[in-house]
Amino acid sequence: MSQIKCIGILTSGGDAPGMNAAIRAVTRAAIYNGFEVKGIYRGYKGLITGEISPFKTQNVSNIIQQGGTILKTARCQEFKTPEGRKIAHDTLVKEGIDALVVIGGDGTLTGARIFASEYNYPIVGLPGTIDNDLYGTDTTIGYDTALNTIMEAVDKIRDTATSHERLFFIEVMGRDAGFLALNGAIATGAEAAIIPEISTEVDQLEELIKNGFRKSKNSSIVLVAESPITGGAMHLAERVQKEYPQYDVRVTILGHIQRGGSPTAHDRILASRMGSAAIDALLEDQRNVMIGIRNNEIEYVPFNKAIKNDKPIDRELLNTLRRLSI
Ligand code: ADP
Repeated sequence: MSQIKCIGILTSGGDAPGMNAAIRAVTRAAIYNGFEVKGIYRGYKGLITGEISPFKTQNVSNIIQQGGTILKTARCQEFKTPEGRKIAHDTLVKEGIDALVVIGGDGTLTGARIFASEYNYPIVGLPGTIDNDLYGTDTTIGYDTALNTIMEAVDKIRDTATSHERLFFIEVMGRDAGFLALNGAIATGAEAAIIPEISTEVDQLEELIKNGFRKSKNSSIVLVAESPITGGAMHLAERVQKEYPQYDVRVTILGHIQRGGSPTAHDRILASRMGSAAIDALLEDQRNVMIGIRNNEIEYVPFNKAIKNDKPIDRELLNTLRRLSI
């Protein structure tokens, strides 16, 4: 531990609201503990191109409330190759960066795990993704904000759906995880959520139709998780329209609106606690762990566990949605 003098921070992969709050927390907690900090731009790409600047406390002033990431983010194919990672390691040595805190999703932590074991290099990860698909933490940074954005958008669509007595299929993000769709459906009083975790077990659309989900409703909203497994909202709407031409079916794909905006209080606090805990982890000589918060307790989750284990959907949530949408 005593060898660490300078900590590098980067954000990588898909951006998520709250990443800035995490950058601020890591920077401030590191400086508080006497470390130097360097900001690495555009994710792992910055380690290849050398886009790196020293970070002082002022560099992270006035960003806790901003969506996106001041460090920018990118996808970097080169880092997936041993040659690219060698360049990245040379850059870290040249810059005098002794440990990394990386903020990102599944792919980012996979890259971190490979690099850390290849070079025996200390890395702590923070779960930054709106998809909430990392094991070992109740929620990921950005998830709560995206969920609230979905709720506001669906409430608005509900107004027009009711006025025209329409059936809406609304597609939300999630990358093979149904957390946004399922909890979004509960929060908006939607009739159903079609999620990848269940699509492999049953034909959810068939079930909905069989149960007469429009029987007593003058509008219906179904949230669909984007995923090849669910087929997406467009595909499901086409199926329904073909079989039930009497329904007035519409599709809305919420898209990138879900990634933007000022982070909620939940995400700001989560990112601040996790960022601060990342520095504690390095002080405790932890390495190659993701910071998680479960049952309000900080946990160090080995990269392998966070990435490889599927985070299961809580069946109680599914039951709640089914019961309340009659
Ligand atoms: P996210 O972190 O949001 O899941 P990606 O899957 O795009 O986003 O991953 C972000 C970056 O992490 C990639 O562009 C790449 O630089 C790095 N990465 C992902 N998978 C690997 C891998 N198998 N080996 C090395 N680096 C990887």
